Amino acid sequence: MSDNKRQPEVNIGLVGHVDHGKTTLVQALSGEWTDQHSEEMKRGISIRLGYADATFRRFPDRDEPECYTVEETGPDGEESEIMRTVSFVDAPGHETLMATMLSGASIMDGAVLVVSASEPVPQPQTEEHLMALDIIGIDNIVIAQNKIDLVDADRARENYEEIQEFVEGTVAEDAPVVPVSAGQNVNMDVLIGAIEEEIPTPERDPDADATMHVARSFDINRPGTTWEDLTGGVIGGSLSKGELENGAEIEIRPGREVEEGGQSEYQPIETEIRSLQAGGETVDRVSPGGLLGVGTGLDPSLTKGDALAGQVAGPSGTLPPTWESFEMEVDLLDRIVGQESGSVDEISTGEPLMLTVGTATTVGSVTSARGDECELKLKRPVCAAEGDKIAINRRVGARWRLIGVGTLTG
Ligand code: GDP
Ligand code: MG
Repeated sequence: MSDNKRQPEVNIGLVGHVDHGKTTLVQALSGEWTDQHSEEMKRGISIRLGYADATFRRFPDRDEPECYTVEETGPDGEESEIMRTVSFVDAPGHETLMATMLSGASIMDGAVLVVSASEPVPQPQTEEHLMALDIIGIDNIVIAQNKIDLVDADRARENYEEIQEFVEGTVAEDAPVVPVSAGQNVNMDVLIGAIEEEIPTPERDPDADATMHVARSFDINRPGTTWEDLTGGVIGGSLSKGELENGAEIEIRPGREVEEGGQSEYQPIETEIRSLQAGGETVDRVSPGGLLGVGTGLDPSLTKGDALAGQVAGPSGTLPPTWESFEMEVDLLDRIVGQESGSVDEISTGEPLMLTVGTATTVGSVTSARGDECELKLKRPVCAAEGDKIAINRRVGARWRLIGVGTLTG
């Protein structure tokens, strides 16, 4: 059974302003560096989510919080016990990548908001990411006050108070603020204790129909692989509910775009699960939590280069519908996040909006807007259920800004 515990059972998002230390913190806890897409970044392609698993442990004979660790053995050779394995979803902090953060938020069970002690509070993405957590309804939050090694005790205290003032009245109001130095490995035990306390593993219904949000997709074959040695396409993402089993028939929606008589439409893809990977191991069955890799029988050209990112996979016939246009109820923010003044104008007919639905990001054009309802026609369809939450972004100046949340009504 103890092996099972090594499978991640909860997804924890890392959010906060760029350079405040999210990736460093994940590395301190997991030993893995999630920023592996620098090539993609250089080429200007939006970077995708990074995942890293960390196993939290405790030394049975030590008091809290000194008992919490990620090490298997202590300085005196004492052995630690496994508590649970968590999966960190590292959202990039760069401001143009808000869409990526939002698509990650759909698979987060809780979040660590990283705030640097060496800068005034709040920095733009500190505020924007907190607002996104609020909108998407992620309220299990721990705040890591990072880089305390760079400030003196007075400034650290002052900054701590700035953070508490800033989160007042938000979803993070009651979140503990833990001073840490991810770079110097200071106070990681207290942080682990706070995460254990504040971000429990959600109760899962094992009988629910499996729903997998696809965040990435790959062709894992080396160039030049011959047809008979070709491995089928791989999709990566997270299960939000249910379980998946090796050998099962699955459907992926919206699926692939096909041209028929000059018209293009999306058709669901049917395939079978040929292998399952979770927590770095090959497994027969998976449940929610952590990054999941699913080997399929698909032609790898279909999964190449994240082609299926944003889609939804699950047992054939159980997935929610595909929408090319839909109506949503809109709840706008009071003001544009990150701007001191300027309220959010009503949504108007004809304007383009960027929408995040699950892990999918799509642009929609408003075909009708009245009061707090609006109807959109999507550039790329999405698979979603009525009642699903939609993050709404509007183009303001050179970038998309989060302006509110929608609820899909039909
Ligand atoms: P991210 O953009 O939030 O993922 O930030 P990174 O983890 O990439 O860190 C940004 C920079 O801050 C890097 O140069 C890190 O080495 C540095 N850094 C991160 N944590 C600490 C810390 O606790 N103390 C100090 N002094 N530097 C840190
Ligand atoms: Mg980073």
